[in-house]
Amino acid sequence: MDLTYTAAEEEFRSELRSWLRANIPEEWSRPGFWASLDDDETFRLRREWERDKALAGFAGIQWPTEYGGRGGTPGMKAIYDVEMVLARAPGTVNPLGLTFLAPTVMAIGTDAQKKEIIGPLLRNEVIWCQGFSEPGAGSDLAALSTKGVRDGDDFVVNGQKVWTTNAVHGDKIFTMVRTEPDSAKHRGISMLLIDMHQPGVEARPLKQMSGASEFGEVFFTDARVAASDCLGEIGEGWRTAMLLLSFERGASGIAQYTEFRRQYDEIVEVARKLGKDKDPVLRGKLAKVLADLECLRLHAMHVLTQVEQGRDLGFEASMTKLIWSEAFQDLWEVFDDVLGDDATLDELDGIDLRPLHLQAMWSRSVTIWGGSSQVQRNITAERVLGLPR
Ligand SMILES: Cc1cc2nc3c(=O)[nH]c(=O)nc-3n(C[C@H](O)[C@H](O)[C@H](O)COP(=O)(O)OP(=O)(O)OC[C@H]3O[C@@H](n4cnc5c(N)ncnc54)[C@H](O)[C@@H]3O)c2cc1C
Repeated sequence: MDLTYTAAEEEFRSELRSWLRANIPEEWSRPGFWASLDDDETFRLRREWERDKALAGFAGIQWPTEYGGRGGTPGMKAIYDVEMVLARAPGTVNPLGLTFLAPTVMAIGTDAQKKEIIGPLLRNEVIWCQGFSEPGAGSDLAALSTKGVRDGDDFVVNGQKVWTTNAVHGDKIFTMVRTEPDSAKHRGISMLLIDMHQPGVEARPLKQMSGASEFGEVFFTDARVAASDCLGEIGEGWRTAMLLLSFERGASGIAQYTEFRRQYDEIVEVARKLGKDKDPVLRGKLAKVLADLECLRLHAMHVLTQVEQGRDLGFEASMTKLIWSEAFQDLWEVFDDVLGDDATLDELDGIDLRPLHLQAMWSRSVTIWGGSSQVQRNITAERVLGLPR
């Protein structure tokens, strides 16, 4: 495992650091600033800031320069992820487009799709949603029932998606649609790139326990999409989806470690202020979480080293997702234990607890999306360890 970065990577770090220092508005770190804005205003501010960052050259860090990327190394991408966390910069508002869609289009898109999708996505001109899950199809994605019927040069789409991140702010949605009704389960599905700004598409927000509506439902009622807006071959959507999901696998977990480690310190600070840092049971729980976080750090550096050496991690990436999501959830369970009877406090001796409460609530979701922990364990058992089904 090599834990050092090259001189060029360190130079990139200082360039990025200076840009972030000069371009993150001071008021963004004022306690209560984000809580004072509604969903739409928060989204607009983040979308515009991220566009400016892209125009300054700090986006698509590992993407080839021909697509407007920086052509950087995995080390630079890791540095980018870490520096964004350290600067408390807001995360991307276009995660599904940037992480999944863009690399898939680069790999198998037509020339027209490459031209129309990648640049506008990088500059946040188009926000992309992922339309996979349905009320009757989550982990078992191939059970999906949204249908597309061919009508001349178009498909006419009917059905419903759910848990769609950014549903109400989305412009377009890459959608798994059954286009051959009588085909076997994993066949006859197409990945259609559907314009959400048309009468046949309705996005409804779903209220989360935090009060926000980061995801929603999307209803298709005779929505139209040109057959040329199919990503990959028509009827081969399963293959396209597997390729698309594989692009999460380069992620090392180093950004998560950086963020969770800082959050850990904040939780310890809260425990001190409440005089709970002497409680032996809580101390034991905090120590266990810290040990888990250090395991995550070492795992992340191991993965990064592998990626730097050009190794395809394949299904081992399931282990990364499992490790970071479970450590994160345990961390915020300890926070709830630390607060105990003070669970409803918004502020404590100058510490704004609201962002911490939001993280604690968010932590409940991370072992579900992107493949649940049970599913990741199945993959690790069968595909990494070679255990029988
Ligand atoms: C915050 C958030 C954002 C999301 N964003 C999106 C999005 O943008 N687009 C999108 O398409 N989807 C999105 N999802 C949906 C997510 O992908 C699904 O929730 C996930 O795939 C699980 O599906 P499900 O909820 O239908 O649960 P189910 O698949 O019904 O699972 C229920 C339970 O059974 C377990 N289980 C299922 N199958 C197995 C098995 N074979 N072995 C062992 N246990 C099993 C699961 O682990 C889970 O505990 C999001 C979800 C969340 C929480």
